[in-house]
Amino acid sequence: MSDVVLSLENAGRTYPGTPPVESLRGVDLAVRAGEMVAVAGPSGSGKTTLLNLAAGLDRPTTGSVRLAGQAVERLSDRRLSGLRAHTLGVVFQQFFLMDQLSAVDNVANGLLYRAVPVRQRRRAAAEALDRVGLGHRAGHPAGKLSGGERQRVAIARALVGRPALILADEPTGNLDSANGAQILALLRDLHADGATLLIITHDATVAGACPRRVDLRDGRVVADTGAAG
Ligand code: ADP
Ligand code: MG
Repeated sequence: MSDVVLSLENAGRTYPGTPPVESLRGVDLAVRAGEMVAVAGPSGSGKTTLLNLAAGLDRPTTGSVRLAGQAVERLSDRRLSGLRAHTLGVVFQQFFLMDQLSAVDNVANGLLYRAVPVRQRRRAAAEALDRVGLGHRAGHPAGKLSGGERQRVAIARALVGRPALILADEPTGNLDSANGAQILALLRDLHADGATLLIITHDATVAGACPRRVDLRDGRVVADTGAAG
């Protein structure tokens, strides 16, 4: 099972309150190296909760979440941050770029917590920008790029450290359909090149374009088309 990059084992997350909210209940999910998996579900089904667990931003209240073989609920905040920095690349709906920085410097920041020397960071960042088709925009301030270009920069930042897993949270959610289709095509290209991707989406087009689809309802997995062979 050494090729399992992420696994949730009977994982649950309850938020305290009266009554408490069980936003995730008994979820079993294993993502193997090289898979491209969509997690789909309506608003309130637990997608963000699952993403936060997979990203090591939150810990399960029941069960276990393993990232690169390590149970996140057993790690200190410091160890968990280190594991995140070395294992994950994350792409968000809102891009989260630094607008005044150039595209290449935004991408290079993806290596900030990896103790990579600055020249090597910039070289790797330039390569990652080429990979997403934005080499010609390397020196542009991120704030001057279009939405589709900004999401490409964010994807380059996520992949620059060659992470074991790329997590994407509604990666096309802020884009028009033409730009969304291009980002989806790029994610599929990365998958074809061997990247492992988990994509959270409520967009049926995005979910349908992934080789494997997991459906959430009320915090439970109600369908899983299964691991590709
Ligand atoms: P989705 O991303 O699919 O819309 P979420 O994971 O955000 O779903 O939420 C799942 C459920 O958990 C919802 O009922 C939501 O109201 C609840 N929830 C999410 N985050 C919190 C929180 N921090 N405190 C209390 N309840 C929460
Ligand atoms: Mg959400």
